Amino acid sequence: MTSLIELRNVTRVYGHGEAEVRALDGVSLTIEAGEFVAIVGQSGSGKSTLMNIIGCLDRPTSGAYWVRGADIATLDPDELAGLRRDTFGFVFQRYNLLSTISAAENVEIPAIYAGHSLDARKARSHELLDKLGIGDRGHHRPSELSGGQQQRVAVARALMNDADVILADEPTGALDSGSSAELLTLLEELHTAGRTIILITHDKSVAARARRMIEITDGKIVSDTGAADGARATTPFEKQTDAPSLLSQMSEAVKMAFRSLRANLFRTSLTLLGVVIGVSAVVAMLAIGEGSQKQVVQSIETMGANLLFVRPGAPGTRMRGSAIATLTIEDGERLAELDNIIAAVPTRSGSETLRVEGTDYQTSIDGVTADWPLAQSWPLDYGAFFTDDDQIRRSAVVVLGATVANNLFSNPQSAIGEYVFIGGAPFEVAGVLSPRGATAWGQDMDDIALVPLTTGLMRLFGQQYLSSITLAVEDTKRISETEAAAQSLLLARHGTEDFQLRNTASILESVEESQNAFAILLGSIAAISLIVGGIGVMNIMLVSVSERTREIGVRMATGARRSDIMMQFNTEALVVGGLGGVLGVLIGLGVAMGLGMTGMSIAITPAPAMLAFGSALAIGLLFGFMPARKASRLDPVIALASE
Ligand code: ADP
Ligand code: MG
Repeated sequence: MTSLIELRNVTRVYGHGEAEVRALDGVSLTIEAGEFVAIVGQSGSGKSTLMNIIGCLDRPTSGAYWVRGADIATLDPDELAGLRRDTFGFVFQRYNLLSTISAAENVEIPAIYAGHSLDARKARSHELLDKLGIGDRGHHRPSELSGGQQQRVAVARALMNDADVILADEPTGALDSGSSAELLTLLEELHTAGRTIILITHDKSVAARARRMIEITDGKIVSDTGAADGARATTPFEKQTDAPSLLSQMSEAVKMAFRSLRANLFRTSLTLLGVVIGVSAVVAMLAIGEGSQKQVVQSIETMGANLLFVRPGAPGTRMRGSAIATLTIEDGERLAELDNIIAAVPTRSGSETLRVEGTDYQTSIDGVTADWPLAQSWPLDYGAFFTDDDQIRRSAVVVLGATVANNLFSNPQSAIGEYVFIGGAPFEVAGVLSPRGATAWGQDMDDIALVPLTTGLMRLFGQQYLSSITLAVEDTKRISETEAAAQSLLLARHGTEDFQLRNTASILESVEESQNAFAILLGSIAAISLIVGGIGVMNIMLVSVSERTREIGVRMATGARRSDIMMQFNTEALVVGGLGGVLGVLIGLGVAMGLGMTGMSIAITPAPAMLAFGSALAIGLLFGFMPARKASRLDPVIALASE
């Protein structure tokens, strides 16, 4: 005959050395299926320790324990969880109901871990609560129920998975005498219906209700009235470790996660805020970074992809052209003769005050040649550009940018033919350029005046050197070939590399590089705030685990595997990460669009939003892992005993 429960010479020792406590000292005991046993003894005699071992919440220090013939020493934690789930139902002195969910949901918990469907669970918990006379209280929170009602809910929970054995540790300890009597009657009924009842109490009058009384003192059995009638054989233990489907587990975990997050709404909001700030920072900053990069690239491209620039000064020097006198007009003339060159425009830049009838206007002034509009592909709105003839005759003519014309004259058109005083000499306005707007750096391209180079060198600039030469290339496919030709020509003329040659492509490249560095900088600031958000998640999860230690204990006692607990806390962190991710992406996009409306250039692409949301989820997973693991590794007995 296979006994339901068999302990042989079981000891349980707490602590070491001086502090050693022998809570159980050589207990041998057999309980058959269908018995109603009371274990009675004074406080501290070892009753709860014995119950924890019988209920597979704890393991003996030495000795052996079999449940339906299975040696529990050979079972792993998940198999023990399986035993607690299917064979044992616990009723505790302090009820141990979860306060954030309803009575009916408390009753359902063991069935969740057994993998029953929501409908089946609901139906059964309803039926059980009905049978126990509190069917109308199912939707109430435990705090809204009396002690007797709460203990009935706990009994219903113990019966949820149709456990063979009800283990009740001082179940009447917190009840008034009326409720106590009712509960004992209930246990008697359950015994009559065929269940094995193990009732632990320090009260002999309570113990007297059982069919068999075992008395324990100082961890030893001192008397046992022996098995009475009703005892019967039980079917041998079958290992049952198949977990419920991942999907139902997940949906349950998500539901619980929202529950417990809602239970601490303020705290959850603060944690969310951390993640939201991180995610929205990533989204907004990347939109700004990408936007400004796009704009710079665009405005460089409007300069034309067919231009080569020659500047004075050795490569790597960052001095402005006017400080280095190495480029000459003759350089420009020789370059113009090269193959594939449409125009070579020597330029001398300076800054002058323009005056018209008492109005002064300071602007940059460039001495250029007649090819300038061709090279820049920059047309005029009014009048005409100066000619080669003006160049030769050193005519005092000027072409104004739109901004300059608007500042000096009532309208640009009226400027044509008028005189502007530059450096004290009168210049006739020959033309007004069409407006081009600002560069990516915010510089107004129309704030410029152009004079013939020869005139400028004679009257305005003094020394005879150039600030730059702009070469317009005919066939852009051959631009590098032309660049190389220009390079060797200038090298031959100067004997040393005291100039720099660049094309728009290489400028684009270096701008893109610096813009990328900018984007990386913004991105890393955002990433740091995301990590800070993650640390917030971890912090809150650790608090949550230590606050809910007893809940974890209850879940373990009702059959949760380590993986179930792990999943629950991981899911909570994931939900925080996911919610924060969604909110953060929305807010980040909102901020980016808002900035876009103020005129800032913004580029909204799906990649940063997806990256940020993914990071938020990853952070939930990563920073939730440690707390979840901590929770799942808790010892059920210690967790249950926590406040
Ligand atoms: P009872 O339930 O009969 O009141 P317990 O089984 O709770 O007694 O405790 C039996 C003895 O073991 C007591 O002396 C108690 O102090 C000790 N004990 C119980 N749990 C622990 C523990 N976790 N660590 C150390 N000593 C413990
Ligand atoms: Mg006790």
